[in-house]
Amino acid sequence: MRATIVLAAAAVLFTISSAHADNYLIHAGQLIDGTGAKPKQQVSIRIEGNRITAVESGYVSPTDDEQLLDLKAKTVLPGLMDMHTHLSGEITPAYYREKFTLNPPDYAFRSVGYAKDTLLAGFTTVRDLGEFSPGLTTSLRDAISKGWVVGPRVYTAGKSIATTGGHADPTNGFNQVWQGDPGPKQGVINSPEDAYKAIRQHYKDGVDVIKLTVTGGVLSLAKSGENPQFTDDELEAIMAAAKDYNFVVAVHAHGAEGMKRAIRAGVDSVEHGTYMDNEAIKLMRKHGTWYVPTITAGKWVAEKAAVDGYYPAIVQPKAAAVGPQIQQTFEKAYKKGVKIAFGTDAGVFPHGLNGREFGYMVEAGMTPMDAIESATMNAAKLLRIDDELGSIEVGKLADLIAVDEDPLEQIKQLEQVTFVMKDGHVYKLN
Ligand SMILES: [Zn+2]
Repeated sequence: MRATIVLAAAAVLFTISSAHADNYLIHAGQLIDGTGAKPKQQVSIRIEGNRITAVESGYVSPTDDEQLLDLKAKTVLPGLMDMHTHLSGEITPAYYREKFTLNPPDYAFRSVGYAKDTLLAGFTTVRDLGEFSPGLTTSLRDAISKGWVVGPRVYTAGKSIATTGGHADPTNGFNQVWQGDPGPKQGVINSPEDAYKAIRQHYKDGVDVIKLTVTGGVLSLAKSGENPQFTDDELEAIMAAAKDYNFVVAVHAHGAEGMKRAIRAGVDSVEHGTYMDNEAIKLMRKHGTWYVPTITAGKWVAEKAAVDGYYPAIVQPKAAAVGPQIQQTFEKAYKKGVKIAFGTDAGVFPHGLNGREFGYMVEAGMTPMDAIESATMNAAKLLRIDDELGSIEVGKLADLIAVDEDPLEQIKQLEQVTFVMKDGHVYKLN
């Protein structure tokens, strides 16, 4: 008797901490499956191990080896996917001096909490676009998939690739004694040859995707937030090398010229896209380029730019100019039919607040269903993993979340996720 009780208690603990997968039957009050299809009422979803094995109308009874999850009062959706995070850090006023004071393990331990906050906010998959400490995100990805720490599925770019003095040159703003001469191994290139070497080094380092900073950026210690920073030749070499290794390529871009060079070269997604003009929009539609808006980061830096001394003097005017623009750019791009994949730039603002992006997208005219699809099926398509994730359909991996009220009526519900399942394990049930 005593042994039975201990075992039962252990089973509950294991389920919550994800150490072991069960078979589940979910009774969902409403299902939004991620494909853009009309929501369905009263649905049963079967989970065997880490796969969805049935989606049936009505509330069917659990079999002997199924655990029933009663979500009859909730709306169930696919696990959310954020296509632009930085799990290795968070940019506060301390960020610029931490480069000199923190050791790689400090960054690593801190990121464990960020990963957990992200998962518990309902984001079961992220694309991490640029790390603050070398090798951190590939290790974090592996630690999560081995069950050592709790977090989302991570598809990481490792270190962003920049040119000398560009947005992701790791020694920007250092004095000449400390600058050194970072090269392809550190993600800094200055020729097509360097471009090949950097992509191949990233392949060797085990990254999943490539991130380029093709224009100036807001938070780096450099003057321009928008100038073009790669030549056509360099971009062509990057895309040729990326094709050899089957990498998805994302580009950080604020200014139109750098953005257009990258779109013409065939990159997969444009991040931020702040000063996207009509020509860039046309090119994106022609090339099928995804737009990942990151409105939340724009709003955040605009707000902090107004706080005296929050950002360094060289950063503040860039934050004040770029930040407020992104939501308007998003509105224009969405109306003109550019493909949108959800991304927030979490790390520029606190991890776990990723869900705010939905409200900003809807405020700018996107339908709630399109906003949800951008964070489910569209994101999966951008990552080329839509055969495994992005919707609640038979055969797919069991990443599901739920909210208490209908998110199509109240989009901000997606900031208050009350159920999280990843890979068939329950991490949250309120
Ligand atoms: Zn970013």
